[in-house]
Amino acid sequence: MEIDFSKKVVVVTGGASGIGRACAREFAARHAAVAVVDRDAKNGEEAVGEICGGQGSATYFNCDVTQATQVERLVGDVVSHFGGVDVLVNNAGIQRYGTVMTISVAEWDEVIDANLKSAFLVSKYAIPAMLARGGGSIVITGSVQSAAAQRNSAHYVVSKHGLLGLARSIALDFGKQNIRANCVLPGAIDTPMLRWAANLDSNPERVLQACDSLHIRGKMGTAEEVARVIAFLASDLASFVTGAAINVDGGLLVPVGGMSFQESGTGATKA
Ligand code: NDP
Repeated sequence: MEIDFSKKVVVVTGGASGIGRACAREFAARHAAVAVVDRDAKNGEEAVGEICGGQGSATYFNCDVTQATQVERLVGDVVSHFGGVDVLVNNAGIQRYGTVMTISVAEWDEVIDANLKSAFLVSKYAIPAMLARGGGSIVITGSVQSAAAQRNSAHYVVSKHGLLGLARSIALDFGKQNIRANCVLPGAIDTPMLRWAANLDSNPERVLQACDSLHIRGKMGTAEEVARVIAFLASDLASFVTGAAINVDGGLLVPVGGMSFQESGTGATKA
């Protein structure tokens, strides 16, 4: 069965870049009317131009999703423009680095607000619009760091763990009203965010190679590979999937630490 979002309104936060932009393209290609929400107006308009140039339907909405008043107005504007909301992709986010000792209070708030509070706010205002249409589907872009931790990223890890809790809470609280909520857990995905992070190192190419090697196939993911899973979860094909954490990580979370003889495959045999 083809996934088709005809007559559906899809809101994608962080839709101007990377995974969000790929989602906007994916949903538009499947006939949705897409609200591209981002604080980056230049890239947002460019994303919309790309979609509309290819016969899709999309409109750019400028919004800082950390700001409650802007988010409330955003949802009102989307409903006025498109008539409602059926799907919400809570995807906007930022990456920062530090430990509990080195992160300033301002940096902590910045990451928690951009990654976690934003998803709470957009859900808070979009869910009534979904209920008015008889239900809907929310997909949240978590991370492998929703389920495990990487070093030197305490605020990011906490925000991404929180997003999985948010998806589960929404799934439970609104499931009987026909709203599903799920969280995708991407591995390293080649987007402007990841390139920005690589460029913090004196040897960005080495960082990109290290990202590739984290995954079973030896190559990181593309934004499109994540977007396709998000579209599936948002669709009726996933009608029995809710409150789920779906790894889209090329197997990054599969290995656990082992002993060196396991790598060579020799040490386990009896002498
Ligand atoms: P990008 O930086 O390419 O895109 C994110 C977009 O969100 C940007 O346009 C950004 O604008 C926007 N944004 C950030 N904060 C706000 C805000 N407060 N209000 C409105 N828009 C905002 O990132 P990715 O596509 O890589 O990441 C998308 C999501 O995927 C994030 O939640 C990220 O944590 C997650 N993720 C990414 C992975 C990766 O390897 N790339 C891996 C796992 C998860 P601006 O540029 O101005 O910040």
